[in-house]
Amino acid sequence: MTACDALDALRTLLGPRGYLDRPEDMAPYLRECRGRKSGTSPLVIRPADTAQVSAAVRICAEAGIPIVPQGGNTSLVGGSVPDHGTEVVLSLSRMDRIRAVDPLDYVITVEAGCILKRVQDAAAEVDRLFPLSLGAEGTCQIGGNLSTNAGGILTIRYGNARDLVLGLEVVLPDGRVWDGLRSLRKDNTGYDLKHLFIGAEGTLGVITAATLRLFPRPKQVETALVAVPDPEAAIALLARLRAATGDGLTAFELMKGALLDLALAYVPGTVDPLPDRHPWYVLLEAASGFGGSALRDALEETLTDAMEDGSVRDAVLSASGAQTKELWFIREAIVEAQRQGGGSIKHDVSVPVSKVAEFIERASAALETLIPGILPLPFGHVADGNIHFNVCQPAGADTAAFLERWDEVNRVVHDVVLSLGGSISAEHGIGTFKRGELLRVAGAVEVDLMRRVKAAIDPGGTMNPGKILD
Ligand code: FAD
Repeated sequence: MTACDALDALRTLLGPRGYLDRPEDMAPYLRECRGRKSGTSPLVIRPADTAQVSAAVRICAEAGIPIVPQGGNTSLVGGSVPDHGTEVVLSLSRMDRIRAVDPLDYVITVEAGCILKRVQDAAAEVDRLFPLSLGAEGTCQIGGNLSTNAGGILTIRYGNARDLVLGLEVVLPDGRVWDGLRSLRKDNTGYDLKHLFIGAEGTLGVITAATLRLFPRPKQVETALVAVPDPEAAIALLARLRAATGDGLTAFELMKGALLDLALAYVPGTVDPLPDRHPWYVLLEAASGFGGSALRDALEETLTDAMEDGSVRDAVLSASGAQTKELWFIREAIVEAQRQGGGSIKHDVSVPVSKVAEFIERASAALETLIPGILPLPFGHVADGNIHFNVCQPAGADTAAFLERWDEVNRVVHDVVLSLGGSISAEHGIGTFKRGELLRVAGAVEVDLMRRVKAAIDPGGTMNPGKILD
């Protein structure tokens, strides 16, 4: 079958609602969400169900047409858009049904195109919690979350996306459907295949549905903004609070004070609840399955003790739902605020939790040597050792010239990460932006195994080509 015939066959298969081919309609599917990259494609397809995905993939496989699976297109490493101009973009956005929710089994089965927020809401409707939570939750899709093994805010308590999956349904690169939609907590029947597809960034197949774990909804949730002198104090506080709350911490976000300054200056609605400004802050959340005041008491007592010994400078425990929203708004606002600091070079890295402070100090010093005046603005989910080590251009520097040094800056930061036993991609994946770095830092055996897995499942190399591996 020629490529032209295949594209016609796809249009016929999917009908007018199932594809887009006008440039203005396709444009949003071809541009990476931060605008760092855009591509071209002959066709965007939007199948309505698994049978259509299977038939469409089969047509593409027969004609040798590559496919880029796409969810909410919020990922940050360039994996969700085409590189070569020949790929068909397969958007899951029409496959957004909740297939089943079972509060007794604590499971939910959803199609891959379900927006993450919708999965959370469907669980809440039956008094259960689906705990994956991230800034893009109103746009990203569960299929994209699983394909990137997303982390997010609540990982310290509930794990990454991978930890929340019981079963998957996947359309393989030749169009066959693997029905692995099991809801079992124990199932040791051979290789656990679902884990191959989780975090594979669409390079091994198209996830079409998933069975996910649910949890009891906490009865009491406490939120606090805590000012600390430095990251070392933050990490010490983390260990102390885990013990004091019976491992009740659900979120622990570190932010450099300069980020709050930027948010207060540029993002309307940002409120600083503390009377003075401080060099570092932690936004934390703790939850308990019991009502009453025990959790709040434990937090208050620990924070008071820490203030007395100087490891905490000030703190506010949220007193209302409205204040909780205000505190979490700061976390969203700092992401937005960085855009006001000029050119910003990003890193999504992790190190052992005990090395977070050393990492921040050493990476900042190494960059100051490379580019004097450079402004590190780290923040992140440090309870998981995950730092978004973003660095802004020196004041008055030429933005374009600064951004041209992206790879050089990355390399300096990644070398510090590696020396501390860390990872160059904590939660965003590899895509194309970090492909070179993966090949630089991964061992030969690891890369060889990855290539063999890819060749075994996608021998034609048509599934999201060029992502993760070249
Ligand atoms: P997409 O961007 O569409 O795709 C991501 C990758 O998965 C691509 O390689 C794509 O080909 C593949 N893919 C998508 N759907 C499928 C499918 N059904 N089958 C097979 N492959 C598929 N990430 C975090 O981990 N933690 C955070 O805290 C976090 N916060 C964010 C905050 C903001 C404001 C933004 C913009 C992004 C954030 N991200 C975060 C990154 C992003 O939201 C996640 O990577 C998310 O999981 C991507 O989901 P998506 O549906 O947008 O996937």
